[in-house]
Amino acid sequence: MKAYRAAVGYVQQDPYGALPPFMKIRRILEEPLIVHSVGTRREREERIAAALEEVGLEPAHETWQKFPHQLSGGQQQRVVIARALLLRPKLIIADEPVSMLDASVRAEILELLRTIQRQRRLALLYITHDLSTVRHYAHRAMVMYAGRIVEQGPVERLLDRPHHPYTRALLAALVDPDAANAHQLRPIPAGEPPSLLHPPSGCRFHPRCPEIMVGRCEHFDTEEAQPRPGHRVACWLHSR
Ligand code: SF4
Repeated sequence: MKAYRAAVGYVQQDPYGALPPFMKIRRILEEPLIVHSVGTRREREERIAAALEEVGLEPAHETWQKFPHQLSGGQQQRVVIARALLLRPKLIIADEPVSMLDASVRAEILELLRTIQRQRRLALLYITHDLSTVRHYAHRAMVMYAGRIVEQGPVERLLDRPHHPYTRALLAALVDPDAANAHQLRPIPAGEPPSLLHPPSGCRFHPRCPEIMVGRCEHFDTEEAQPRPGHRVACWLHSR
């Protein structure tokens, strides 16, 4: 079989939207292999069966006869992950892969992605707004605001000792189901992220930043500082 290897596999946020509703699962999974001229029909079938089994959809020949609407949301996302694996990528980009799923299957899908990452020794870029899962599933985290990385570092250090005001605001906004919090207000920055067509001058977070240094932050673009090895932050509070 042709040893084609893709650089990147992609797992979309909405599995139902990512799977053509008029195609059976087998056809959906065979298409990227056909496009890249991988193997004979029988070899493609073997690769599809192996991918479906790897994501926990056994027996494969039962799954691939179905249309996407005949699967649950969790099963659909497993098919999307199988498709991302078919061309044996070195990197998988998973864009909010569990945000559309029932809470009961989110942990299963994240655990599946982690298992695949370890077994295949590939890189996984996990995009999410859910910082509570980042601690458990990532080694390194990058925080983006208005199209820019504002802070990055080893995940434990970044979440335990955030330096950028936006990172601190994200962590302050995390839900903490403690009755003592019922009547407490959290320090969430006012306003909304800006339009990327017309981003603010200087630091893009300055219109919302509670720690703005007037006269500097709104005029000058930030320079990256490194408070600790491997931990980088783009904020004038930490730059000279
Ligand atoms: S550079 Fe200034 S405005 Fe931007 S996050 Fe840092 S303190 Fe706030």
